[in-house]
Amino acid sequence: MSNPQQLIRPDILALKAYHVQPAANMVKLDAMENPFGLPPTLCDELGETLGKLPVNRYPDASYATLKASLRRAFSLPDDMQLLLGNGSDEIIQILAMAVAKPGTAILSVEPSFVMYRMIATFCNMRYVGVPLKADFTLDLDATLAAIKREQPALVFLAYPNNPTGNHFEPAEIERIIHATPGLVVIDEAYQAFARDSFLPRLAEFDNVLVMRTVSKLGLAGLRLGYLVGAAQWLDELEKLRLPYNINVLTQHAAETVLGHIDVLNAQTQVLREERTKLFSALTTLPGIETFPSDANFILVRVPDANAVNAKLRAQGILIKNLDAAHPSLKNCLRLTVGAPEENQMLFEALKSALI
Ligand code: PMP
Repeated sequence: MSNPQQLIRPDILALKAYHVQPAANMVKLDAMENPFGLPPTLCDELGETLGKLPVNRYPDASYATLKASLRRAFSLPDDMQLLLGNGSDEIIQILAMAVAKPGTAILSVEPSFVMYRMIATFCNMRYVGVPLKADFTLDLDATLAAIKREQPALVFLAYPNNPTGNHFEPAEIERIIHATPGLVVIDEAYQAFARDSFLPRLAEFDNVLVMRTVSKLGLAGLRLGYLVGAAQWLDELEKLRLPYNINVLTQHAAETVLGHIDVLNAQTQVLREERTKLFSALTTLPGIETFPSDANFILVRVPDANAVNAKLRAQGILIKNLDAAHPSLKNCLRLTVGAPEENQMLFEALKSALI
């Protein structure tokens, strides 16, 4: 009789499961969610349509109407294909599975989104994390050298980056694209809050795909991500997608809400303005270092992140403490931009924790 220690791969035994903090009754500013929720009329419309769906049947396997809604809502280029994932996390996994020949590497920068490394491990691939500079900009020389040395099959660049919030210089990304022998995935999870996108430039490069999600836009609970790129890549990746990965409730709820994309756009506009206000308020606090953000969160460094985090938590405010996440994030906290009253509470709580 075998036991898990004997049967499960040692690299999986050594992993820690992705940790999600309990959030009941907390002001939730830890996970880059849109705080607003949907207006009541749209909720009623959803209740009407979702209640009538044939949940005894498998979903539409082609996702044709959902893809058309995504194309319309986000002006996706007609000459590019779409692949849908159960969150963009699933798309990262599909990409890794597709290229995971023995010895191949996934390369990204550090600190960045932790799932790049985790999924590389799941798929038995090597993971190469090239450190960003102290100000979290790309270390182009080190990145190009690592690409040359490791010949990665996949490069992930979060644009803007999580958890640092900054966007990398497009000209530097271009250099990385040209140097990479494999695919470069520009992860635009935070695009709704960003200044620009690689999407309009997709046709310029034959080894680039753009990945996005509706999570940060206001639909995190639906779990829907999408990958945009040329048919020559996406036709192959489709083979790895599990059938029916987008369930019937998600398909219809997303179609309904995307038909009212102006509602989400107005909410993200408020959040961008709130980001500006919160950022300048934070800069007035003593002992705090603020990092510029193109996303719906702000990274800060404080004298004692664990103490500040504990004080916020005691006041019912949940943020992400990154102190132990990576050496260059020592004493860093990631603050999701919330609704105006939540940001005010956060600011007051930070102020009393720091003064
Ligand atoms: N990419 C980045 C850079 C992220 O920060 C996240 C979520 N934190 C994701 C992808 C995954 O998003 P989802 O699975 O919700 O689509």
